[in-house]
Amino acid sequence: MTKILVIEDEQVIRDNILKLLKAEGFDVTGAENGLQGLSSAMSNFFDVILCDVMMPKLDGYGVLAALRSNPVSATVPFVFLTGKADRSQMRQGMELGADDYLTKPFTKAELVGAVVSRLKKQQAVAEQYNSGRADNNKITQNSCNRLEWLKTNLWGALEREEFQVYYQPQVNLKTGQITGAEALLRWQHPEKGHISPAEFIPVAEETGFIVPLGEWVLQTACRQLKAWHNAGLSGLRMAVNLSPRQFHQPNLSSRVARILAEIGLPPNCLELELTESMMVQDAKSASATLKSLKDLGVFISIDDFGTGYSSLSYLTQYPFDTLKIDRCFVSNIAEGCRNAAIVKAIINMAHSLSLEVVAEGVETEAEKDFISCYECDTMQGYWFSPPVPAADFEKLLVR
Ligand code: C2E
Ligand code: MG
Ligand code: MG
Repeated sequence: MTKILVIEDEQVIRDNILKLLKAEGFDVTGAENGLQGLSSAMSNFFDVILCDVMMPKLDGYGVLAALRSNPVSATVPFVFLTGKADRSQMRQGMELGADDYLTKPFTKAELVGAVVSRLKKQQAVAEQYNSGRADNNKITQNSCNRLEWLKTNLWGALEREEFQVYYQPQVNLKTGQITGAEALLRWQHPEKGHISPAEFIPVAEETGFIVPLGEWVLQTACRQLKAWHNAGLSGLRMAVNLSPRQFHQPNLSSRVARILAEIGLPPNCLELELTESMMVQDAKSASATLKSLKDLGVFISIDDFGTGYSSLSYLTQYPFDTLKIDRCFVSNIAEGCRNAAIVKAIINMAHSLSLEVVAEGVETEAEKDFISCYECDTMQGYWFSPPVPAADFEKLLVR
């Protein structure tokens, strides 16, 4: 049966839509705010999502951006329910990758029409995909083309200002305060739509383009943090991901120092996220680079902990400040005792080494409660907020 998710905060409207669609034989689920809708969309498969734009907690743009940034939900048909025929709202929605929109109030025929036309389009795409699959060569050819396309288009994308930095809050579990943000890169191509960092970062790494791109992210994120500090939102820290190639480039620390000085940001407001594997490739130079970054005064965190390298000896050799538990251990922690045991052990170990612990990918209240009772320091995840544009992050700060 066709499954439809309706995310709408106004109960009367939501109930009405649910009733109309149910009468048409659809399997419908309602969500009363953006966060609830997002978590439902992430944990179930839906054929179509109908979503209001203006909602408390997380608005429709935030929901769409989060869905499009996740490979699993990147292509789910998404229809905005807009309050009025507001062109800027619609444009913003379509730019983020919405497939259609319905202006409230709409008739039953318009509602069902929008759903059915989405389903037909999706079916056409699936048929095209299946016929493509029958021809293996064609697929290989397509993925080669896609790779080539990425390689050649990445460079121009920076110039055409197609990249954006989104910010995901990091929240202190004891105080509930936002203590920092992780800067996450987004690429919105005018024709191809949203392209996931999981797809293009490896290509940028391979071609070396990650070096100017990563520097742009660092600059953009530091400027943003400076603007927030200037606006009185002090005490925030900004976490920026570094790729292996960036990490191994000569005089990394002097480049970082120059950017901080130009922007006028104290080094202790910046945290650089590295991964375990960077410490093992060329350990000697890694150690020297880390030392010079620490001397500068920036914080260093170890990202995706537990998924890379299995030796723990590097933890005692290098001057890390923070350990980020990978989200694969955090997800479903409340159900599986194995993940719970691992998370508990990682937190204890990190605290004994005087490291701060961040749990990544906290999606539900139950997960939050779990890590909080294990005395994890900080959480990051959809439960609080997905990565959002700077303006939306400010709203979260004010809230
Ligand atoms: P990461 O550094 O581990 O970033 C966390 C990823 O988890 C982000 O994916 C974020 O959107 C996602 N995430 C956060 N909370 C949740 C949650 O509750 N549930 C789920 N399912 N996912 C959650 P994103 O933005 O797609 O980035 C993927 C990876 O791409 C990042 O993983 C990072 O390795 C890389 N990346 C992103 N931006 C940059 C950048 O500026 N430079 C470099 N070098 N790498 C980047
Ligand atoms: Mg990270
Ligand atoms: Mg991570």
